[in-house]
This record gives sequence, C-alpha cells and structure tokens, in this order.
Amino acid sequence: MVTVLVGMRVSTHKGVYCRQCGTALCRQQTKTTLVMGWWGVQGLAAPLVLLMNLYSFNKVNQLPQAGYAFAPGTGGPHYGRPLALGTPVLRSPALIVPVVLVVALIALIVVANR
Ligand SMILES: [Zn+2]
Repeated sequence: MVTVLVGMRVSTHKGVYCRQCGTALCRQQTKTTLVMGWWGVQGLAAPLVLLMNLYSFNKVNQLPQAGYAFAPGTGGPHYGRPLALGTPVLRSPALIVPVVLVVALIALIVVANR
C-alpha cells in the first residue's frame, strides 16, 4: 500500500506462485507499506493492510517450495527462476519508519500534555 496526502494505491499480485516467489512478493509489498503506507489520512489503514499481508504470508507458507520439477497444485514446472527472497521484513530497514513514527507520536503526546 502506498499513500500520499490525498490518495492511496493498493496493489495485488494474482498468479500461480511457488513459496519462494510468494514470499518475495509478500516481503516486497510489506516493506513498501511500512515505508510508504503511513502518509496522509489513509495511513490509518496501514495496520489493517499489514495484517492482510500477514494473512497472505500464512497462505504463501502453504505453497510448494521452489525448485520442484512439478510443483503440487500448480499443474506444471516452475517457469523461470524463482524471485530473490530479499531481506526478511523484521530485519529490513523499512521497519525503522513505523518505529520512528510511533516514537514521534508518543513524544508529541508527552509534550502536548505538559
Ligand atoms: Zn516461483
């Protein structure tokens, strides 16, 4: 999810994926939401989108591993190379953005209540 001051863009990736490709897409989408999902009023939906991404992560974890000659449930071999996994979300610098925003919000609340 990407938000700007007056709008937002939600993207989905429909298709047949192996676990590695699905995980790579989920990680990429979640990191994009963590960095770009908080800006503007629509940013209030970012936690919901992150929960939806978590649901997608759980679905992706049930997919067959990459590298199967015939991936169960896909009806055929993996087409092309699997996507690069990328950094796990919890070890990604993208996590800094919501942490900084929460700290700034708490600081604002503390300062405003003095
Ligand atoms: Zn794949």
